[in-house]
Amino acid sequence: MKGAGNTDGGITSVYELKEKLGEGSFSEVWLAQHRRSQKLVAVKCIRKRAVAGKEAMLQNEIDVLRKIDHENIVSLEDTFDTPAKLYLVMTLVTGGELLDRILDRGIYTEKDASCVIRQVLEAVKYLHKLGIVHRDLKPENLLYETPFKDSKIVISDFGLSKMEDQGVLSTVCGSPGYVAPEILQQKKYGKAVDLWAVGVISYILLCGYPPFYDENDTELYRQIMKGEYEFDSPFWDDISQSAKDFISHLLQVEPEKRLDCDQALQHPWISGGTALERNIH
Ligand code: ADP
Ligand code: MG
Repeated sequence: MKGAGNTDGGITSVYELKEKLGEGSFSEVWLAQHRRSQKLVAVKCIRKRAVAGKEAMLQNEIDVLRKIDHENIVSLEDTFDTPAKLYLVMTLVTGGELLDRILDRGIYTEKDASCVIRQVLEAVKYLHKLGIVHRDLKPENLLYETPFKDSKIVISDFGLSKMEDQGVLSTVCGSPGYVAPEILQQKKYGKAVDLWAVGVISYILLCGYPPFYDENDTELYRQIMKGEYEFDSPFWDDISQSAKDFISHLLQVEPEKRLDCDQALQHPWISGGTALERNIH
C-alpha cells in the first residue's frame, strides 16, 4: 500500500492507531492494533523535519534495528515511510517504565537492582558486539515487558544509537545527567559511554537520586567531567561495599579505566551474590 498519494505510507490501512503512550523530542509512541490479527503493538512516529539532513543515518539505523534480536531489547517488527514521518512498529511492552514501577513497590532490594542492571548489561553487551553504541541509556528508556513481578527489562529507545564508525563516535548528544565525561570534553568516544550510563542508573536505583545534579548545566558538566559524586550519608549507609565498588568502577572519568560489559557482568555485585536482600526503599 506504499506509494504516491498515500499520506500515511499505508500504516492506517494495516494498523489502527489507538492512543498515545509516550512522547519524546522527535517522536510520539502510540498503541496500535493490527487490523487483521488484532495484535497490539507500539508504533513510534518520528517527525522527519526534526531529523532533517540525517535521513541516510536514520535509514542505516533502521537497517541495524531490524537485525537486533535480544530478549532485553524491544524488537522492530515493521516500518512505514512517508515524506513527513517514519513509523517504527515495535513489540508492545506493557510493564511500564522502570522508575515508576520501583516507586510503586513496597519493597526494593539491592538484589532487585542488581537483577535489572544485569539485564541491561546483557543487552548492551549484545549491542556492543554488533558495533552499536546505544548512547542514550537512562531509566526512562528501560521498560518492563509485563506487569508481573518477575518481568524482564527491555531497552526501548534507539533514538540516538548509531553504528560505531571505526571505533569512534563524536557528536554531543544524550541526556545531561547521564552523559559521559569524554562526550562533554568533545573527545572521540565509543562503547564506554554506555557503561558510564549504567553506572549512573545503578546509582539512582540504589538511592533514588542522581550522582550528578545541578540546575545549572555548566556546573552539572563540571561535576561530571571531574567525576565529582559521593555516596552520601545517611542514604548510602546501609548499601553494601560491593555495590559501591561496582558503581565506582563504572563512574571512572577515564574511559580506559571503566569496566567493559564483560567485566561488569563478572563483578561480584552482578554475578557473585554480594547484592543484599534487605529492603532499601
Ligand atoms: P523517545 O525517543 O521519543 O524518547 P522512546 O522509545 O523512549 O522514545 O518512547 C517514549 C515512551 O513511549 C517510553 O518512555 C514509553 O513510555 C513508551 N514506549 C516506547 N516504546 C514502547 C513499547 N515498545 N511499548 C510500550 N510503550 C513504549
Ligand atoms: Mg526515550
